[in-house]
Amino acid sequence: MRQSHLFTKTRRDAPKDEVAKNAQLLIRAGYIHKEMAGVYSYLPLGARVLDKVERIIREEMDAIGGQEIRMATLHPSENWKKTGGWDGVDVLFKIQSRTEKEYALGQSEEEIVTPIAQEYASSYKDLPVAIYQIGQKYRDELRAKSGIMRGREFGMKDMYSFHESQEDFDRFYAVVKEAYFKIYKRCGLDAKVTEASGGNFSEKISYEFMVLTDAGEDDIVYCDACTHCANVEVSAQKAGDMCPKCSAALRSAKAAEVGNVFDLGQKYPKAFGFKYKTKDGKESYPIMGCYGLGTTRLMGTIVEVLSDEKGILWPKEVAPFPVHLISIAGGNSVVSAEADRLYELLKDNGIEALYDDRDARAGEKFADADLIGIPSRIVISEKTMSEGGVEVSSRDGGATSLLSENDVIERIKN
Ligand code: ATP
Ligand code: MG
Repeated sequence: MRQSHLFTKTRRDAPKDEVAKNAQLLIRAGYIHKEMAGVYSYLPLGARVLDKVERIIREEMDAIGGQEIRMATLHPSENWKKTGGWDGVDVLFKIQSRTEKEYALGQSEEEIVTPIAQEYASSYKDLPVAIYQIGQKYRDELRAKSGIMRGREFGMKDMYSFHESQEDFDRFYAVVKEAYFKIYKRCGLDAKVTEASGGNFSEKISYEFMVLTDAGEDDIVYCDACTHCANVEVSAQKAGDMCPKCSAALRSAKAAEVGNVFDLGQKYPKAFGFKYKTKDGKESYPIMGCYGLGTTRLMGTIVEVLSDEKGILWPKEVAPFPVHLISIAGGNSVVSAEADRLYELLKDNGIEALYDDRDARAGEKFADADLIGIPSRIVISEKTMSEGGVEVSSRDGGATSLLSENDVIERIKN
């Protein structure tokens, strides 16, 4: 995409009321637009990043047998009254129509997915089933000061599974956990998993996936010597305490909850009278699990963790473009013709570059490129042309090298 064509521009300052680093950088670089506290629109660069995050999640959910659907976000109030959520969920947005009918805006989708699964799963032969969607959620959050990490409207992948037995549920639960770790890794993040419950066997298990960052709203303790990690709120463990698994000293940190998985038991199937025929001809309620992963919070967390004073450093798989082609022509039409030609050559090789073909000073172009944060950069100028190549560098400060066109294409592809 030609940068001269991109309708957004970088800006020097973020809105004064924006305190979160993720939103400040994303607004300044033109990824998102703030509508009000906790509500953002995603502009071309931002929509591309979110699409890539969603694509990673979709691939990993499909790989474990998840089936993607799109559920309604305008919900009948009756479903929420059946489960107790209408009065029990404090963040639920409730809407009244002009004919005085009541609706809820989806803050989670158990109330919708349970009746859908019920319609098609009548026998043990129809189980297990795992259904997911990626879409908007609405929550009446009291505080929305963390940029896109805590929205009143936000993106979430939510999957729900239904099983014949606790054993089958436990098996799937472990599979999802591994898929989550793959997702975070592909997004350039190192996630830890807590056991949110006190480890009491009578309690339902749940896991929270945490990424260390001061921008997070959770307090955790973790162990450097093993994988132990716990939420301070539920575990009562603190820094300096002995790790319950390996006896090293625990450390404490702020973390962002980028996902979680819950054992919901039979609560929702019971609320909707969802029974299936078992192998021995009896009737039973399935065991249900839910698996949330905040897509916009994940994008915000990437920015918090992978950024410096100049801007963002996107990991390759989620960058809006894999490469930023920068032409420093300074009015020299031979240089700009060469840059145009390389842009087309990249395209012919299936590489979509953001091409800075603007008539702007070199310093401005480099500052914008640092802010936008595309991982690989190619520079064409009179100097590189006289040296017989193009200059290739990376946003994270790796070495700069002069390469031939063919070598550049190989380098970007791999
Ligand atoms: P939190 O404790 O941070 O409010 P939660 O326990 O309410 O999270 P869930 O209801 O389980 O979260 O939602 C699943 C996932 O959706 C969370 O792990 C998080 O990644 C994301 N998420 C939850 N609330 C928000 C929000 N207001 N804005 C952005 N992402 C959110
Ligand atoms: Mg919450």
